[in-house]
Amino acid sequence: MKKLALLTSPPSHLDRYIGIRDAKQRPTRDVLTNNHAAIAARYQALDNCVGAGQIEHIGASPLQNISDQLRHCYGSQTKRLLGLKKQIKKAQAKEALKFCPYCGTTTNTTHDHYLPATDFPEFAVHALNLVPCCSLCNTIKGDRWIDQAGQRIFINFYLDDIPDALYLHVDLITRPGFDTVGARFRIEEGELELEEWELIRHHYDRLGLIERYDDNANDEIAGMLRDAATHVEAGGPDARRFLARQAAKSCNVFGQNNWRAVLLAALADHAELEAWIDAG
Ligand SMILES: [Zn+2]
Repeated sequence: MKKLALLTSPPSHLDRYIGIRDAKQRPTRDVLTNNHAAIAARYQALDNCVGAGQIEHIGASPLQNISDQLRHCYGSQTKRLLGLKKQIKKAQAKEALKFCPYCGTTTNTTHDHYLPATDFPEFAVHALNLVPCCSLCNTIKGDRWIDQAGQRIFINFYLDDIPDALYLHVDLITRPGFDTVGARFRIEEGELELEEWELIRHHYDRLGLIERYDDNANDEIAGMLRDAATHVEAGGPDARRFLARQAAKSCNVFGQNNWRAVLLAALADHAELEAWIDAG
């Protein structure tokens, strides 16, 4: 898991919204234009919360009365909106969006409104509120973002610093009678600050990430062992070095807590590696 890059200004987030708004047809455009001062004030309020590192302090939307018009800015795929999505993608480091930032398992096919569009329609096309992600994470997250105590329950990949500590761990397992290698992932608090840990714990828990990693591990490991075998057969460095290098690459692009990076490193270190490759 790694932080995503924010779009830089100019243009400002508000100007980007204005571009999308002005491409709308009447009467939607008129309604939005007539309410511009209130919308601009909300953009400013969000800026202030982000600046203070307290996005959860954004108050309830005062613009529910024009929710349909605000959400229409996202609901219909205008050229301007597609352009914004492209800019978000372009701002990211190479390969950073190869997998969904929320889970790291599948490709990005949609955008999550971190602040749910039902509750915050004014941020429906705010670049900071559009997180590229997979449809499964988007569906599971739905309209949730804080718990009853007002604490956020999902990592915000634009704003939250991902701790520089390894918290995702894995044990590799083989079951008698099965010829595949499986995995049991877990997260551990370790040296993390309590606040960081709570957010990470909720994020993994709510999105069911450990179960998803465990379920995907057999196939993923089989592919990794196959790649290592192919590489060695082609005269490459030994399997351990090959897997360690692959782990470093994944770590570099997706962060040290990326589930594939953790899996590759565990394989590279495992005493049974050569036996597993031979059995493959
Ligand atoms: Zn996902």
